[in-house]
Amino acid sequence: MNGRFAPSPTGRLHLGNLRTALIGWLWARSTGGSFLLRFEDLDPAAIRQEHYQTQADDLIALGLEWDHNPIRQTDRIEIYRDVIRQFVASDAVYPCYCSRREVREATQAPNGPWSHGIYPGTCRSLSAGQRQAKEASGRQPALRLRAESISLGFNDLVSGHHTGIVDDFVVQRGDGTPAYNLVVMIDDLNDGIDLVVRADDLVDSTPRQLFVARTLRRPPPEYGHVPLVLNEAGDRLAKRDGAVTLPDRADLGQSSAEVLTMLAASLGLAEPDEPVTAQSLVPRFNPGALPTTPWRIPANAL
Ligand code: GLU
Ligand code: ZN
Repeated sequence: MNGRFAPSPTGRLHLGNLRTALIGWLWARSTGGSFLLRFEDLDPAAIRQEHYQTQADDLIALGLEWDHNPIRQTDRIEIYRDVIRQFVASDAVYPCYCSRREVREATQAPNGPWSHGIYPGTCRSLSAGQRQAKEASGRQPALRLRAESISLGFNDLVSGHHTGIVDDFVVQRGDGTPAYNLVVMIDDLNDGIDLVVRADDLVDSTPRQLFVARTLRRPPPEYGHVPLVLNEAGDRLAKRDGAVTLPDRADLGQSSAEVLTMLAASLGLAEPDEPVTAQSLVPRFNPGALPTTPWRIPANAL
């Protein structure tokens, strides 16, 4: 199966990111598939230029090599714009003038129309006159895809069956930036990805992404959402937890090879002190035996 790792170059990769990359790489390689590195870099405010390189270097340090050149979404803007134009032409999308604040406040109201984070279609059927009046206020509209709260399910290869309601989600932000749920699917389809391995905090976004594939009349990839890496308190691993990046680990005297052993051991693929290479793990990898609960790292190991 053809896989990919799609980090945002916003900081150094941490153990959780590296472990997800390792699983995706092993899964692709153990099935004879290709593996791509694709940078999700459409949010200029979040990008730190140096991290294209540090993220690539860290994957190489673990032996996770990719095929072709690394991809940057910023090089593909025209591809996304073409799809959006196609959606506009077929009336698959509509402009939404609601502000972020309106959306946020309404989704937080316990019994409001937008409770549960579902956009209720406020701008779905505005008349031409109503749209003009909103335009005149000067607000740049986002574009939302007409999904009309359809329910979409999928069988995750790691975590089982999931179903989610797809609201009319944003495919182009008010500032003109194509949105994550759109571009990730366009890329996965165009890159021939048939296996998406990523952290399971994204499982709830998957039905929206499947709806993009459906709108484009293309078969979607399969998914393997893997459990997060947590700190001792059970929170998602973060920089403040301590030595979570390869340079942090090196400062503690742990080599990249030893980090690989630690990650492999957490997946049941190596003994805690066993020297391994990424390649040597390929024949040991069995997706059916992946852990289905988070890896909790004790504070004294960080
Ligand atoms: N860029 C996302 C992340 O770093 C991953 C998106 C994906 O794999 O679909 O969490
Ligand atoms: Zn709206």
